[in-house]
Amino acid sequence: MMDFNHSEKEAIEEIEHIRSGIDGLVSHGSYQAISTGPLTRGCQICTKMRSMTFVLGYRCNASCQFCFAPSYQSEEYDEDEKYNRHACFKQFLRDKNKIQGVGFTGGETFLYLDKIAKYTEKIRNEKPDIYFWIYTNGIEASPENLKAVRDFGIDEIRFNLAASGYNNKIIDRLGEARKLFDYLVVEVPSYPEQKKQLIGCLDRLEYYSIDQLTLQELLINGNNINNLSGEGYQSGMMFSKKFFLYGSRKLTYEIIRYCLDRNYSFTVNDCSPRKFGIIG
Ligand code: SF4
Repeated sequence: MMDFNHSEKEAIEEIEHIRSGIDGLVSHGSYQAISTGPLTRGCQICTKMRSMTFVLGYRCNASCQFCFAPSYQSEEYDEDEKYNRHACFKQFLRDKNKIQGVGFTGGETFLYLDKIAKYTEKIRNEKPDIYFWIYTNGIEASPENLKAVRDFGIDEIRFNLAASGYNNKIIDRLGEARKLFDYLVVEVPSYPEQKKQLIGCLDRLEYYSIDQLTLQELLINGNNINNLSGEGYQSGMMFSKKFFLYGSRKLTYEIIRYCLDRNYSFTVNDCSPRKFGIIG
């Protein structure tokens, strides 16, 4: 059973103290974004609270310990997911004047290529200048699939390398993605248990010229609480209540320091989903 002994105030003060000892951090003027350099276009849209998350479905080909989504591993797709896609599209129609970018997520998005084709087209018909990005665990990111996704008009791709335990074969897929996408991002949860693998892959992220490494504070909810070790803390009150892994953000700043010391060319971004992607 996970303990929740730390307060949000304490966790934030600790992070602010660590931050104050690091030169060259850039604040992006919103709730969450502190980075070592410029953000990708998708992140810029998100930090302005002008983004929308489009959940394609929760079928996945990985089963991550830290997964906070209700993902499932099956040969079959859950039919009811289509109602969720319809709801996402309706939300887009409702808010389309404010939305500047849509991020496709899952489950594993590359298991939903036909749905990506369908919804990129439908959304672009409504708003031709919309910006798209996509999250993937990279397992199905073959050159053909990457090209297909690019051809659907997606400009930015974000690999969750943590899902494969930072598997070298998946890391190598960044090379093909680099040729195709305007923005190439590695976006992983800051999970102390995977610290060694994360640090171990950084030279290769530089080799493949990624634009950004986004480190997410690890969100705890009913889908992952029984799989995680460590301590949690509560953020926010009442309906905005969320729970995070205590120590996750400290790891983020350890990695930030490490990357700054080595002068890597990519931006490292501290992303905490206390509030994000919501239309303001
Ligand atoms: S790859 Fe993503 S959706 Fe799939 S199990 Fe891992 S965190 Fe969850």
